[in-house]
Amino acid sequence: TTFAELGVCPELVEACDAMGWKAPTRIQAEAIPFALQGRDVIGVGQTGSGKTAAFALPIIQALLEHEHRPRFFACVLAPTRELAIQIAKQFEALGSAISLQCSVLIGGIPRTSQTISLAKRPHVVVWWRSSRACLPEHLRKGFDSWQLWKERNSRVGTPGRLLDHLTNTKGFSFNKLKYLVLDEADDLLKVDFQKAVDDILNVIPKERRTFLFSATMTEKVKKLRRACLKNPVKVEV
Ligand code: AMP
Repeated sequence: TTFAELGVCPELVEACDAMGWKAPTRIQAEAIPFALQGRDVIGVGQTGSGKTAAFALPIIQALLEHEHRPRFFACVLAPTRELAIQIAKQFEALGSAISLQCSVLIGGIPRTSQTISLAKRPHVVVWWRSSRACLPEHLRKGFDSWQLWKERNSRVGTPGRLLDHLTNTKGFSFNKLKYLVLDEADDLLKVDFQKAVDDILNVIPKERRTFLFSATMTEKVKKLRRACLKNPVKVEV
């Protein structure tokens, strides 16, 4: 199979060529046609299977089909910073023809850098959640002042409050969000992202497509699937 045979548009076939990708991987071949048809997709597969492009290509293609290239079009939740950065890079590389903008946000820390990042009005927001312990040193400092600020300012204290704060930031709104991706869902739930996921689900539109990728289908992941996805297609590699 080729990317074109899966229904990938010529601009994106070219982008895949530019990445040096000769043919779709198995998870891409299985997931992309359903995603392009507008179905919710559950992909069971490991990192390295090419799953990022399996969700990024259909999202960018949908963005290409919009004349105005809407901002805050997709939100991706990832369990680690490294993965979040990797996802953002792949979105920007595949979407370079339309200068796709992607912002990486850290759940739990409303820092000015994030406000600046959102002021770019990205097409895609990649969100990862960290506990204080796994933050790098320079961020941990910011986290301490955030904790302090939080204690004094209990109005903004939880991921949900943070979301309130963000959604009240000028120009930022999830109202037009069309795609939600839960990447490495089993790990997402391990790092205690459940609360943040619930909060995000409360502020984003119900009318959207959702893609969930996971290496394993644990009971928690199945619960998340029931809460987030509508009549999904399951693809396994
Ligand atoms: P992922 O599983 O999304 O983390 O991707 C793993 C690696 O495979 C990344 O470095 C991608 O650039 C690469 N990749 C994704 N799709 C393809 C493809 N169709 N052919 C070759 N490499 C790919």
